[in-house]
Amino acid sequence: MSTESDCLFCKIASGVIPADVVLESDNAIAFRDIDPKAPTHALVIPRTHYADVDELTASDPILTGELLTLAAAVAKLECLDHGYRIVTNTGEDAGQSVAHVHFHVLGGRSLSWPPG
Ligand code: 5GP
Ligand code: ZN
Repeated sequence: MSTESDCLFCKIASGVIPADVVLESDNAIAFRDIDPKAPTHALVIPRTHYADVDELTASDPILTGELLTLAAAVAKLECLDHGYRIVTNTGEDAGQSVAHVHFHVLGGRSLSWPPG
């Protein structure tokens, strides 16, 4: 497993920094966002470090599928029966602030589209 010593989400994945974990699998972990934008706001990340969705999809399409599967399982566990949104920000224009790929899972309220 590849980790980066100065990466916040690598530290969360390895347990060095605590997080409110929702679900885990061998290769991925889902935890609650520290600044939630909806009643349910979880982040789904691979345990292995990839900076963004470009690196992830180029390197490991199977893991990409596992992350989406875990995101859907989070929605199920959180009973988001009226719908939910999966978002991944990539790069500066999208506002990516943590350079370890993550899928936001948002739900529990009506979500506007397009986002601001
Ligand atoms: P981005 O802006 O890169 O798409 O999303 C990064 C997310 O990580 C933000 O929603 C932010 O609130 C969340 N975040 C930043 N630092 C921490 C932290 O230390 N713990 C948790 N659980 N979430 C964090
Ligand atoms: Zn990382």
